[in-house]
Amino acid sequence: MASKKKEIQLQAVVTNQAQWEEMLLNKGLTVVDVYQGWCGPCKAVMSLFRKLKNEYGEDNLLHFAVAEVENIVPLLPFKDKCEPKFIFCLNGVMVDLVKGANGPLLNRKVIAFIEQERKIIAGEILRPELQELVIMEEKEFEEEPEEEEAVEKYTVVIIKPDAVALEKVDKIKETIVGAGFNIMAEEEKTLTEEQIRDFYQSKSEEPDFEDFVTFMLSAPSHILIVSEGKQSQHVMPYLQTLEEEGEEDKEWEMQEGEEAMHGMQKMHEKPGLKGALENHELLNVCDIQDSVEEASRQLAFFFPNFAKSKKGPDIERTLALIRPALLRERRDSILKRIAEDGFEIAMQREIVLTEAQARLFYKEHENEDYFPILLEEMTSGPTLALALVQERAIQKWRSLLGPKIVEEAKEQCPMSLRAEFAVDNAPINQLHGSTTPDQAQRELEFFFPVENTLAVIKPTALEEHKDEIINKVKQAGFIISEMKETQITPEMAAQFYKAQENQPFFGQLVDYMSNGPSMVMILTKENAVEDWRKLMGPTDPEKAKETNPDSLRAQFAKDILRNAVHGSSNEEQAKTAIDFVFGDVDLESLKQKYVYV
Ligand code: UDP
Ligand code: MG
Repeated sequence: MASKKKEIQLQAVVTNQAQWEEMLLNKGLTVVDVYQGWCGPCKAVMSLFRKLKNEYGEDNLLHFAVAEVENIVPLLPFKDKCEPKFIFCLNGVMVDLVKGANGPLLNRKVIAFIEQERKIIAGEILRPELQELVIMEEKEFEEEPEEEEAVEKYTVVIIKPDAVALEKVDKIKETIVGAGFNIMAEEEKTLTEEQIRDFYQSKSEEPDFEDFVTFMLSAPSHILIVSEGKQSQHVMPYLQTLEEEGEEDKEWEMQEGEEAMHGMQKMHEKPGLKGALENHELLNVCDIQDSVEEASRQLAFFFPNFAKSKKGPDIERTLALIRPALLRERRDSILKRIAEDGFEIAMQREIVLTEAQARLFYKEHENEDYFPILLEEMTSGPTLALALVQERAIQKWRSLLGPKIVEEAKEQCPMSLRAEFAVDNAPINQLHGSTTPDQAQRELEFFFPVENTLAVIKPTALEEHKDEIINKVKQAGFIISEMKETQITPEMAAQFYKAQENQPFFGQLVDYMSNGPSMVMILTKENAVEDWRKLMGPTDPEKAKETNPDSLRAQFAKDILRNAVHGSSNEEQAKTAIDFVFGDVDLESLKQKYVYV
């Protein structure tokens, strides 16, 4: 009982609009736990709030409240979202939002706001212009993104080898585009046996299925991902009647009969993809999956990166740069801060830019006065480039950065990252972020170009964990451009490990590698060399378990020699090794086929 009473005292209870408006009259900061009636307020943060109130409450600038979304107009956008949300109101204006019971982040923000408020009151700094929380969130929450996603529909189309040989690919593509669909991605390649058996699962009981698999393995197929765009629902049942297994032709005839009867009415509905291809007598040379769930599963199978990019409508990637001075002095704290702000680091590369690279990257600034200083700073040591991922990452990262000029940042937005992570004596701000989606894409391509690398599943791991490892490779967004199960020759092994030639373990290593079958793969992805090494983890599995427990070596290695996987150290080394195993592969064209996330 006693503790309950305390809780009520700590947080004002806001249940209607009038109380909400009264709460906005609070001086200083009010942290509002916005909750759903059926979930109740968040208990997990109570002790943190109590501690903050004790430590920062004496000048009455810090208040806490709980508010049920139901009857309060500005909170309605949060209705039916059960994740805890904390709104920060500063002198009656909603200025910030923390999603989830993220204790460290709440703690840091409360302290920063209170300290800022105290400085303002003491006349030490000017009040920065208050930026009201963008209730842009409002619209998007109202729109129920899930529903929209269900309507956006992707279909995998496989054009079989005989049609590829007959050069029907262009005709099929023209037909698809002509019928109003969009081709989102395509690739010509010989499907793996695994992919064939998966895609044609429903035919696996048919008597000539094994011959069919052999035929599919004999030459490249052409794979398309087709988007039907935002289809209106009425087209869906029409497609579904065609899906009934084995009945396709019959159903289709019926449909045509029906269409003749209702000709006019049907005319202005877009025919399904199957209909369009059937009309041009092209359905017999390609295969389509148009059940929504199956298609999305197959999408992940054939084009893992494309599928990944569709996981949420607002998930974006942006480029962040941590410039040399900051990287030298406060690497860990800036990385910690980035994680606290909810960003996931999808790729990273530490690079000392050459002058030519810096000039190219900052080409648009070349006529500015500060250009020489920028060049000097950017080439003065390693820069850390990060691909940051989060909902609306581009705008979020930009707004966290604050003003470009460090002095302005310090005066107007002392809580911005450029102010907080300013480095004394460094002539320019220490953090960069892309401004628009286009710019983000270009900048990401600059720092994380598509690469090929050579990856090997070593013999012991191939025997015991083949499928698990291959799945993890795909999940991590690598395209397996080529794969071959083969017994590595001692010459090949010596080539892979040229750099270890003089090591005492070299003989043992070559023996082990050439003693049983391995899986050799060409992996294609942005930043493939480094990202594959990161997925492998440290050479010694004991260290991997400690520092990188999700890595392949932490999970699948037996010991340092039998450490599950191999990867090249750079693209040049990869090329030599690939030539050795696969012969002359057109590595450039593998890169060009890569579908960007
Ligand atoms: N290796 C070993 N004993 C050692 C160090 C390395 O058996 O003390 C083996 C290990 O299997 C490793 C391979 O040699 O994967 C190549 O060594 P490298 O330093 O290139 O490590 P990697 O690039 O594979 O992480
Ligand atoms: Mg190595």
